[in-house]
Amino acid sequence: MDNKELWQSVLAQMQFHVSKANFATWFKNTEIISKDDKTIVISVPNAFSKEWLSNKYNKLILKALRDTDEQIKDLTFIINPQAQKVNPPSFRNIPVEDKIETEQLKFDEFKINKDTNLNPKYTFDNFVVGSFNELANAAALAVSENPGNIYNPLFIYGGVGLGKTHLIQAIGNKIAEDSSKKKVKYISSEKFVSNIVSAIRGGSIEALKNSLSSIDVLIIDDIQFLAGKNKTQEEFFHTFNSLYEKNKQIVLSSDRPPNAIPELEERLRSRFEGGMIADVSLPDYETRLVILKNKAQEKNLNISEEVLEYIASNVKKNIRELEGALNRLSLHTKTNDLSITIDSAKQLLKGFVFSPFDVVSYKKIIETVAKFYSLDEKSIFSCTRRKEIVRPRQVAMFLLRKELRYSFPAIARKFGGKDHTTAIYAYKKIMQENEENNQLTEELNLIKQRIYSG
Ligand code: ADP
Ligand code: MG
Repeated sequence: MDNKELWQSVLAQMQFHVSKANFATWFKNTEIISKDDKTIVISVPNAFSKEWLSNKYNKLILKALRDTDEQIKDLTFIINPQAQKVNPPSFRNIPVEDKIETEQLKFDEFKINKDTNLNPKYTFDNFVVGSFNELANAAALAVSENPGNIYNPLFIYGGVGLGKTHLIQAIGNKIAEDSSKKKVKYISSEKFVSNIVSAIRGGSIEALKNSLSSIDVLIIDDIQFLAGKNKTQEEFFHTFNSLYEKNKQIVLSSDRPPNAIPELEERLRSRFEGGMIADVSLPDYETRLVILKNKAQEKNLNISEEVLEYIASNVKKNIRELEGALNRLSLHTKTNDLSITIDSAKQLLKGFVFSPFDVVSYKKIIETVAKFYSLDEKSIFSCTRRKEIVRPRQVAMFLLRKELRYSFPAIARKFGGKDHTTAIYAYKKIMQENEENNQLTEELNLIKQRIYSG
């Protein structure tokens, strides 16, 4: 029996053990490329197949092989060198990035739970906590331990790539794990809107509402997309109330707080504000480093401390970009079997979107605000209530939040450990006045210009 026939017989057996979808995903484009006395080498099309087959199917495949040839003792997988010759990895052109992305997506899609829509990779265990997200994390944990009874709804907001989806799915995964009886459902806002729209068209809105109201934990991601969708908001309002009255948990995420979502019905806004609102902001350097170390370990990457430090100090925009940087290096090690030096890291990450915050710093903001209002920096931090100082202090807090996405507790620490509600108050006050008061708007614009121009 030649290699080809041997592999055909293995594939024939595997079809009995794995689902059709699984089979198509993981066994497509695989073959035996060499066989010595004891070891079989199987080529696979990409790193994800390799990881999956060797972790999940190693034993089954080996058993199938032994059924045909008892001598076989071992099995290894390699990524098809042929495929790479045709498609040499290049880090500058986009198609390779796209490819990783789609492969990652396929890999993810495959794992998504069909009942809950949750991706099991999002857990509390692999969620790194720091001052930038500790409130949100604590609230999420509390909700997962006692759904429906503490914070309802739980509303998590923050910028892109900062862990909102991760956190709200972790809640769902934890609840589903603790109790298989609880009906958990995760849904993106886009999907939610399109479900409602098509149910209205198809005359099945009552059925949809019934099925929604049987859910124990409803998680809706990126709720800001409901802005302006009046029909959907109306239906959602009823679903919300019916779940809420039965003490069912509702978890929402958004890129901004409820009061900043435009075209949101007042009654929904007040429902959202009736529960717990928590933000996620940007991790500091130390936390970025911890996140990188965890991810590198998760992905089994051998990347030196020095290189990780380089990434942590240069990629600051959000956590998704940190992962992106790591993935780029990971692809390089996987395809070239090389370890990453600091120089190759610099090369590979060149052109990577570095944050515009590079030029703006905490120091710069304080300095500019002080100068603008002709104060010395020290007085901005003093606790006087004198009007000519209170205003600049609030502006400084506002800008730290707005331009550097500092968390409120972090701002409070900078300002002598004041309670973080002081920082929230300052932020809200300046935000509100900015809308009503042209002079303040003008001042803020001038200050921002100075911050960014030099
Ligand atoms: P968002 O929904 O806020 O845009 P995501 O939840 O999709 O962001 O996060 C982007 C990526 O960063 C995901 O892969 C997620 O697992 C990861 N991530 C975000 N926050 C953390 C964290 N605190 N610890 C570990 N990984 C994180
Ligand atoms: Mg998200």
